[in-house]
Amino acid sequence: MIDIRGLTKRFGHQTVLDGIDLSIEAGERVVVIGPSGTGKSTLLRCINFLDRPDSGTIRLSNLGVDAKAASRADILALRRRTAFVFQNYALFANRTAKQNIMEALVTVQKQPKAEAEKRALAILAETGLSERADSYPAALSGGQQQRVGIGRAMAIGAELMLFDEPTSALDPEWVGEVLDLMRRIAERRQTMLIVTHEMQFAREIADRVLFMDGGRIVEEGPPDAIFENATDPRTRAFLKRVR
Ligand code: ADP
Ligand code: MG
Repeated sequence: MIDIRGLTKRFGHQTVLDGIDLSIEAGERVVVIGPSGTGKSTLLRCINFLDRPDSGTIRLSNLGVDAKAASRADILALRRRTAFVFQNYALFANRTAKQNIMEALVTVQKQPKAEAEKRALAILAETGLSERADSYPAALSGGQQQRVGIGRAMAIGAELMLFDEPTSALDPEWVGEVLDLMRRIAERRQTMLIVTHEMQFAREIADRVLFMDGGRIVEEGPPDAIFENATDPRTRAFLKRVR
């Protein structure tokens, strides 16, 4: 369903992604782990051109985008098929929970307002936030804000959902409700690529775990294989540190 070939990204003289090859099946839940500064966020950001890759190709179903030749239309098409959940929620502060979810439906998908509102209310119900539909982000807890962030991503019905450490900015008390919501999304066999430091969650939810270091995928496999029997010394050292 998604096929990434030779993805590279440099910031100045630093090679942050060093030729990433990655295929993800429809319905697969892939978790990315690895030390900080290793290119995990950059990988996710390059997949939908929030950061422009220097080279490589990204194929999503019948859409193929080459980093060097990507047109504005290609990038928009790619963004329409992917949804991004940010560590810091990235909500519009001057819009309510409902309006935050409606935003992309109205501006990007050109849905009529009434239809977008109906969809937003359904998503708010699914995320347990019906009562907070008209609340502004500042009036919501961190956990509620991130559930709006995830709801916004759910609403657009993207083929691929990208999660960049969605619980890292949260106080510990709010982590559980956000992971619960992600579990529910995973149960529907939504294709997900998730960067997280929540190792227990990764174990539960992942079909496949990738360990990244130095801009490369060093090792990958089913969760048990990675967490119990990692072969690369870098993976083993990392897992020892985070446990
Ligand atoms: P991770 O998510 O694994 O912690 P990142 O992808 O955020 O790693 O960053 C990888 C490297 O790229 C880091 O050294 C970081 O400083 C650098 N980097 C990330 N974004 C930028 C940017 N916009 N400009 C310059 N350097 C960046
Ligand atoms: Mg990161």
